Amino acid sequence: MDNRLVASTWEQPLEPPASIPESSDVVIIGAGILGVSTAWLLAKQGINVTVCEKGLVAGEQSSRNWGWVRVRGRDQREMPMAMEAMRIWRGLAEELGEDVGYEQGGCIFAARNDKELDGYVKWLDVAREYGVDTRIIEGEELRRQVPGAAIPWCGAIYTSTDGRAEPHKAAPAIARAARRKGATILESCAVRGLDLEAGRVAGVVTEHGTIKTSSVLCAGGAWTSLFCRSLGIRLPQLRVRGTVVRTAPTAQLLNGNVYDRHLGIRRRQDGGYSVAHGTTLDHSITPSTFRFATKFLPALMQEIGGLKISIGSDFFEEWRTPKRWDLDTESPFEQTRILNPDPNPRVVKAIRRNLDKIFPDLAGTEIVESWAGMVETTPDVIPVIEESEKIPGFHIATGLSGHGFGLGPGAGYACAGMLTGNDTGIDLQPFRLSRFFDGSPIRMDSPI
Ligand SMILES: Cc1cc2nc3c(=O)[nH]c(=O)nc-3n(C[C@H](O)[C@H](O)[C@H](O)COP(=O)(O)OP(=O)(O)OC[C@H]3O[C@@H](n4cnc5c(N)ncnc54)[C@H](O)[C@@H]3O)c2cc1C
Repeated sequence: MDNRLVASTWEQPLEPPASIPESSDVVIIGAGILGVSTAWLLAKQGINVTVCEKGLVAGEQSSRNWGWVRVRGRDQREMPMAMEAMRIWRGLAEELGEDVGYEQGGCIFAARNDKELDGYVKWLDVAREYGVDTRIIEGEELRRQVPGAAIPWCGAIYTSTDGRAEPHKAAPAIARAARRKGATILESCAVRGLDLEAGRVAGVVTEHGTIKTSSVLCAGGAWTSLFCRSLGIRLPQLRVRGTVVRTAPTAQLLNGNVYDRHLGIRRRQDGGYSVAHGTTLDHSITPSTFRFATKFLPALMQEIGGLKISIGSDFFEEWRTPKRWDLDTESPFEQTRILNPDPNPRVVKAIRRNLDKIFPDLAGTEIVESWAGMVETTPDVIPVIEESEKIPGFHIATGLSGHGFGLGPGAGYACAGMLTGNDTGIDLQPFRLSRFFDGSPIRMDSPI
């Protein structure tokens, strides 16, 4: 049994690029699912694009997530992008010519009481508006969909068109396809900052030299706030740690994803399950927690039940991290090539306990791997996607906030449109950074 299957995405030797291009039409910072999807979609249009990744393709969030690909429960502002993402996922393997583990296995959010179910029912209006096959199921139908569950759920919301994919496969496969279409993807190549001429982008300064460009997309995940700060741009973003486990292959109790507030479980392509706690996330207090506290208050109130707040070495680590640096010296991005938090052992135990309780048939099934990932989130838990008002040519795409694996290809489609000026039909106005500072209410319509 390969107990490093998922970890093998980020446990590979880091090899600096032999050379870097002198110039590129577009440079993308970060090779997560968002960066590589955007690169692939641009390269397909014949655009010369270079992706700079400080570590490995999908080394951070994009390989560590639960693998849920869903529109159910999304904030309405994200729906056009999420619908586009689903369209891309459905044809992705065929277009790439590579397996990404995608399967439209359905997605169920089960309720333990009427209050939870009422919360789910509200989303049916959104489903109707976008023609999504979402409905409430209960009784025999719910038992048929999730046989073997020992919890007497009072009902559930079921979306037949949602699904799953394998995170350790998807972004690397998209990156390979982008390369085949002509994109340059550089690993072990941190971007330290921007080369500006008359206030606008003239290039990116990497650890291996400068690449001339007039158009940059920062898709740096959990590092975007720091990168922006070094440029004088304030971007509210915090990190929370999610712990995930994977079981050995075992009986098929379900083919899609099931969420209960104590468990998130999905069938894996290898016949096992990826399992997490339904609500528990760790937030280690850092100086950013204080810096952005007022902006994050609504999110904090909503997630307070599941958020385990602590203070420890992360506080001092961030405290010590420089906020600005000379571009000819090592930057914080090279100092942490891959953000690789340890899984929380207490959460692993809770997952085991909850799995055995909710699915007694899986009680003997071995947990063969556990890992953690740092989810980065914005105050309203939807992305920031815009061309910076301060620095023409500098574009930001971040804050996919715990649900960006499924959204990634759709967000990449929106970003490709933003970079080329082509109309994608996706309104990016709700994703402007200034919403956090112009007095707009910070509205949180989707859970982390
Ligand atoms: C535990 C967990 C569970 C999740 N579950 C789900 C789920 O089931 N479904 C779902 O849709 N989403 C889920 N998510 C969220 C999803 O994984 C993320 O939203 C998504 O992967 C974000 O993609 P990204 O490309 O924006 O960022 P990332 O994947 O984090 O990629 C950003 C990349 O930028 C690189 N980078 C940063 N700064 C620099 C720099 N200066 N120079 C060069 N490179 C740089 C980083 O090294 C990194 O590789 C989950 C996340 C976690 C952690």
